Amino acid sequence: MRLIVQKYGGTSVGTPEQIRNVARRIIETQREDCRVVAVISAMAGVTDELTKLAHKMSAEPTKRELDILLATGEHAASALTAMAINALGARAISLTGAEAGILTDRVHTKARIANISPKQIQELLAEDYIVIVAGFQGQSAEGEMTTLGRGGSDLTAIALAGALNADACQIFTDVDGVFTCDPRVVGDAKKLDEVAYDELLEMASGGAKVMQSRAVEFAKKFGVEFEVRSSFNRNAGTIAKEETPSMEDVVVRGVSLDRKQAKITISGVRDEPGIAGRIFSAIAAANIIVDMIVQNASVKGATDISFTIHQADLNEARELLVPIVDEIGADGIVAQSAVAKLSVVGIGMRTHSGVAARLFKCLGQGGINIHLISTSEIKIAVVVDEADIERAAQLTHAEFGVASPAPADTVMGPLA
Ligand code: ADP
Ligand code: ASP
Ligand code: MG
Repeated sequence: MRLIVQKYGGTSVGTPEQIRNVARRIIETQREDCRVVAVISAMAGVTDELTKLAHKMSAEPTKRELDILLATGEHAASALTAMAINALGARAISLTGAEAGILTDRVHTKARIANISPKQIQELLAEDYIVIVAGFQGQSAEGEMTTLGRGGSDLTAIALAGALNADACQIFTDVDGVFTCDPRVVGDAKKLDEVAYDELLEMASGGAKVMQSRAVEFAKKFGVEFEVRSSFNRNAGTIAKEETPSMEDVVVRGVSLDRKQAKITISGVRDEPGIAGRIFSAIAAANIIVDMIVQNASVKGATDISFTIHQADLNEARELLVPIVDEIGADGIVAQSAVAKLSVVGIGMRTHSGVAARLFKCLGQGGINIHLISTSEIKIAVVVDEADIERAAQLTHAEFGVASPAPADTVMGPLA
């Protein structure tokens, strides 16, 4: 008997009718002679609402309590899904992340999975139960509730599929699969039949929220192949897997955009050992995630250092850097919010040249100014004004020929 792990995202369980639809799909899968473990996210919008409520209580809610609060969204949706399955005549039991054996470190709100002991899941499967698991959460060794970062139900599913050695892992969402760009931004974005882990990882960390980047990282590390597909139709989805030689033929697999970024420039920094270390240690100590870092060539012993962070961290970063700028004798600090990052991704870049030139030329012709540039072996990323990001994505998408008409039967759910 095959073992299938499925994950249904918030927009797939957004209403009672959608939960019943999910319940029917899960039962159908079981009737195809499969054992089913289904990971369920909070109903659409619930995690955001709970976060807003928390911020009404406190400007900086205690992270431990935030985890207890946010985990309830997944508790509710998974219990409702189990009820719907039972009402349709099959047998389901819902488990919290802790009951499912998901052990994490103790970093509240962005915990990492340390270990999985799915004993209870296995016992329930052996008794022919459909096992519903609340996504996005686990438990630390001290028994504290933790959550796995936004989009973390993807990670729950991938990690469980790995731990249970499942025959298939299916991520059900509100679009047909992974597209060449967010289909809500580029109307003619095309669904990919397959994508390499490394490509999806770059796309996800570049802002494509269709998969949580940590989930893709986990899948790559443990070789968990998975399919991203729609819960609203039966179309085949996108298979994420280890790369094959033919995948290099495609130069650009996808374009991602990441909004709400901020850029900080420290100017007139002495070009001496230890200075960058001083700046970035202070940022790291405040747990602020730095994305791109660019340092100019030194002119007369001084240089500029620019980097990007999430817009939400801008005030904190600026406050902690002002005294450091004084201490290291730099000229000043300039911060700019409302910038965004565009990433062009493809493993074909390893063997094809000229991608950067084409990207810059295309943005230039569109009158779009580039603030920062960074590259990896399979990615070129640029920071532009947030006001330009959608047009930049559309122009880039067209330039690299990843565009083609979306299939007529593509069904998209409501805007997330
Ligand atoms: P779920 O609630 O199922 O976890 P998410 O809202 O987290 O769903 O992710 C699905 C959304 O990701 C889509 O509705 C789409 O707008 C967005 N998205 C961004 N980039 C891409 C992409 N390259 N391919 C597909 N969807 C994308
Ligand atoms: N409910 C959580 C979130 O909105 C986890 C998830 O949906 O994957 O981020
Ligand atoms: Mg998601």
